[in-house]
Amino acid sequence: MKDTYRHKGLRKKLIDSIREKGITNNEVLDAMNRIPRHLFMDSSFLSHSYADKAFPIAAGQTISQPYTVAFQTQLLNPEKHKKILEIGTGSGYQTAILLELGMRVYTIERIRELYEKSRSQLISLGYKPNFYYGDGYEGLPSLAPFDRILVTAGAGEIPEKLLQQLAVNGRMVIPVGGRLGQKMILVEKTGKNDIKKSEHGYFSFVPLVQGKSN
Ligand code: SAH
Repeated sequence: MKDTYRHKGLRKKLIDSIREKGITNNEVLDAMNRIPRHLFMDSSFLSHSYADKAFPIAAGQTISQPYTVAFQTQLLNPEKHKKILEIGTGSGYQTAILLELGMRVYTIERIRELYEKSRSQLISLGYKPNFYYGDGYEGLPSLAPFDRILVTAGAGEIPEKLLQQLAVNGRMVIPVGGRLGQKMILVEKTGKNDIKKSEHGYFSFVPLVQGKSN
């Protein structure tokens, strides 16, 4: 499938609407404007690709709402060349945005089908993140520390192992709460054993689940 003028037009409208909802980081908005979201969606939802909504992908999971993707990415304060761990590859859409922003991306997915699908899709689009099929609760200890950690599924609490893998002066963005909704938490690591947490509104994510699955 191609990226047509029609897709580009719809995408620009979507980006304008996200800006109106309060996203101010132009680098994030520009990166989203460059990425054909429809290439990360299932064919049955293609006509909705540029609606500001979450949609089902495979295995009962979802591609996050574009506003939510923009919000999390802005809160991370993305910077070129920084090393980022993404938990929950899902469709690979968020992964593509982080790569467009020039970050060094390590992404983990626990469902094999999604891992394989988004891996081949991202590669076919020319993106080269480091892909892992595994349990994001564990992080990637041998590759730590990470300058940024982005969790794109709702956690019951902040996993201790991820905190340990965050670099000093690093930032982690993670939705924390129950099944019905989560608070967006920003964790800033201010010293080796010091963190600062702040809350940034309510969102609704599929749950972060322990262990990997087939
Ligand atoms: N960023 C993705 C969000 C997908 S939904 C996108 O926009 O497409 C969240 C994803 O997190 C799902 O694919 C789910 O399988 C995955 N996930 C949940 N718990 C996980 C864990 N412990 N480790 C890795 N991935 C996990």
